[in-house]
Amino acid sequence: MKALVLSGTNNLFTLDCEDGSLRLCGIKGKRIKDLSGTYNSLAAGDFVELEPDPDRVDRGMILSMLPRRNVYGRFNEKGRSAQAIAANIDLVVCVSSPKLPPFRPRFVDRVAVLAEAAHVPLLIVLNKTDLGVEEEVVERLDEYRKLGYDTILVSAAAGEGIEELRGRVEGLISVFTGQSGVGKSSLLNRLDPSIERMTGEVSEKFERGKHTTTMARLYPLGAGGTKIIDTPGVRRLALRGIEPDSLVAYFPELAKLAPLCGFGLSCTHEDEEGCRIVQAVESDEIHYDRYESYLRIRTELESATGYKRSGNRDPGRKGRSGPRRPGGGTGARSSMRGIFDDDE
Ligand code: GDP
Ligand code: ZN
Repeated sequence: MKALVLSGTNNLFTLDCEDGSLRLCGIKGKRIKDLSGTYNSLAAGDFVELEPDPDRVDRGMILSMLPRRNVYGRFNEKGRSAQAIAANIDLVVCVSSPKLPPFRPRFVDRVAVLAEAAHVPLLIVLNKTDLGVEEEVVERLDEYRKLGYDTILVSAAAGEGIEELRGRVEGLISVFTGQSGVGKSSLLNRLDPSIERMTGEVSEKFERGKHTTTMARLYPLGAGGTKIIDTPGVRRLALRGIEPDSLVAYFPELAKLAPLCGFGLSCTHEDEEGCRIVQAVESDEIHYDRYESYLRIRTELESATGYKRSGNRDPGRKGRSGPRRPGGGTGARSSMRGIFDDDE
């Protein structure tokens, strides 16, 4: 029997089965074949083949996973492993707020990298617009739109923009992510108040006493095939599993210019004299903050993999000259330091 993975923890998965029933299932033989490699577990949105338990209508065993279209994952710093969060998705929705907590473009940049890695579009939602939106935030959202990322302004509290958001996710399987406190749960509740009830019912039935807040969960939204995968709020998104030299491919504006860089694939686009990307940062063609995010993530990926640079370049970021920032100053410093500089 075919089934859809709604959520899972400790290798027990809640499945929405072809026959209309919900089942709690383990994996036959403990491991899914074909799932070695980066993401070593089933995720919300996966389809599986299952063997129903002959004695219990709400139990069964997972036999295999059906091929995935894509996977949205993150690096679990605590567990030190790549973690599949959602599979077979159409859209990544990054929920943010202008204040309480403040807007964090560095977090958005990391989510954007994960969306690029999954090969799906990104929608940036700015919630809590009832609190007022500073000009800097409006400008950053414009900047994201120029890069090809969709953005909308909403307020779960005031009920604004909710129909627009509904329109964006209609008929799709979306994964909702965001830092804790941005109002993700409030928005989902606005989209469909029964989500809260469903959470209650599923945890009542299957997950008593488990740490249910730490996992992603899939919810059907209405009858039109719209599905939302809610993910636990996070403070910081660690990135791994990307070759430092390939990171430009995950920043659309850098990916466009990288082939024009005379230093080719071996260029780190950090301090090479005459690098096309460094030039673009200096002339403001590339937003300095986005470039800074690239550098920070690159540094993180390099230290995680013990990456060695070719040539005799300074291996650390310290003492690196870097491009001149538009408006003066040099080196890796945010142009909006103090407002947007924080990774968390
Ligand atoms: P989550 O951690 O992202 O799921 O955030 P919650 O939905 O739990 O919301 C965090 C806090 O922000 C709660 O106190 C909400 O009442 C509040 N909140 C959520 N949406 C809005 C909004 O649109 N405007 C305002 N002013 N507060 C909001
Ligand atoms: Zn370069």
